[in-house]
Amino acid sequence: MGEPGQKKVVERLGDLSEQEFRKALHQVTEWATHYRSTISERPISTPGQPGEVTARLPSTIPKDAIPIENILADFERLILPNLVHWGHPAFLGYFGSTTTAPGILGEFIAGTLNVSAMTWATSPAATELESVVLQWLRKLLRLPDPFFGVVYDTASVATLHALAAARESLPLNIRALGLSGREDVPRLRIYVSDQAHSSIVKAAITLGIGEANVRRIACDNVFRMDAADLQRAIQNDRLAGYLPLAVIGTVGTTSAAAVDPIPEIAAVCKKERIWLHVDAAYGGAMALLPEGREFMNGVADADSVVVNPHKWLFVPLDFSTLYTKHPEQLRAVFSLVPEYLRGDAEQSEINYMDYGIQLGRRFRALKAWMVFSAFGERGLVARIREHIRLARLFASWVEGEAEFELAAPVHMGVVCFRAKPVPREGSTLQNQNELNISIVKRVNASGRAYITHTLLDKKVALRIAVGNVLTNEEHLEKVYRLIKDAFANATEEHRVTSS
Ligand code: PLP
Repeated sequence: MGEPGQKKVVERLGDLSEQEFRKALHQVTEWATHYRSTISERPISTPGQPGEVTARLPSTIPKDAIPIENILADFERLILPNLVHWGHPAFLGYFGSTTTAPGILGEFIAGTLNVSAMTWATSPAATELESVVLQWLRKLLRLPDPFFGVVYDTASVATLHALAAARESLPLNIRALGLSGREDVPRLRIYVSDQAHSSIVKAAITLGIGEANVRRIACDNVFRMDAADLQRAIQNDRLAGYLPLAVIGTVGTTSAAAVDPIPEIAAVCKKERIWLHVDAAYGGAMALLPEGREFMNGVADADSVVVNPHKWLFVPLDFSTLYTKHPEQLRAVFSLVPEYLRGDAEQSEINYMDYGIQLGRRFRALKAWMVFSAFGERGLVARIREHIRLARLFASWVEGEAEFELAAPVHMGVVCFRAKPVPREGSTLQNQNELNISIVKRVNASGRAYITHTLLDKKVALRIAVGNVLTNEEHLEKVYRLIKDAFANATEEHRVTSS
């Protein structure tokens, strides 16, 4: 309060005025539609130096409010040019998380509402829509009824929760007593193939199981876990006094989209009474196609499975789903109702805060509901099928060239391949690997395509993943031409420098 008689400083509180908001919204709407319709004409990325963006931004918060149109102008000038445009149809890196118009609208509305889906009572429709969307997806994935779903941000977090539930299913009372200082807890083991995603190792680190207790099982020549080797590893570990905690099989590995033999792995888990978690973060989408369902064979026998609609079901980042037959185990780990939420929590059977570490939960279900409704099952199936067609077409181009070879079978939207230079005296595997890395760098530096590399059989492979709703045959042809040009230039340079 000011001194009596002192003139009051009037500061504007509250939000932007309705007028300002409307004007800015129009501007953003125009920008977003223009961005989406011209995205293929932009460079995907513009090489810059680390720290460049930071250097152009003030190092402290502005003292006074800046008009929103200036902020939007700064966004276009300072931020936008230094992004990698993942939505570009020639962006074929990683598992390109595609956005879609209904997904953008869903994000926008969820941001406007800013509700929290922690309990049913904190926003009933947010919780119920989450349950409905999870049920729609469960049916699309052909997972039987006992599978209960929860939405998390990412597969890494979903897998962490699955393994926490698996850990709690052991008679060790780890939730209450923890792990440290206990002599009655044997060393726990997790089994994965040598192609499994790093998120599993991170989960083991977080859950106190330890990186060293993630046992990597060898794969066959098409990068599938060897189930017989898994069985042997479990037996040997038991003899050595370890307690097997969980096996993680993958449907659609990160490098080559390989599919572990889930039915055989499930049989081992059943016999050994070990929790089976399936990482179908990418490959789960195949279950929507009648011709793709075989890849999810055996998943119904798992204890838990993660599928990421933000990878190949057209929902923008982030939206990951975990399904488990043992929701009571998840609750046993994570349900902890603070007094101030007790009244809320008593109002419904389902309060999603009970199934995870997070309390506040974004209204993620809205965007998924909008995408799934706007495309329908047929639309989803048609898009996934088209991506597989495009990947196979690209693979057929590779197979038709003497200087390229496929590095793994193609059955989803991923193609792994490599350039194989004509062997010359003194040429080594290292030369071949360097050449392939150099192709990736050249292609990406062009700004006209974006690809990544991986390591398969200790050899560098180039990798593309088709998953963007905007990608068509013409884009792929252009990317392929860029790769061939990069190969020719890199080979030429190599010849000059080594002669
Ligand atoms: N599992 C697989 C097979 C993946 O390829 C990835 C990421 O690409 C993940 C899990 C982790 O996904 P997220 O980024 O949602 O944590």
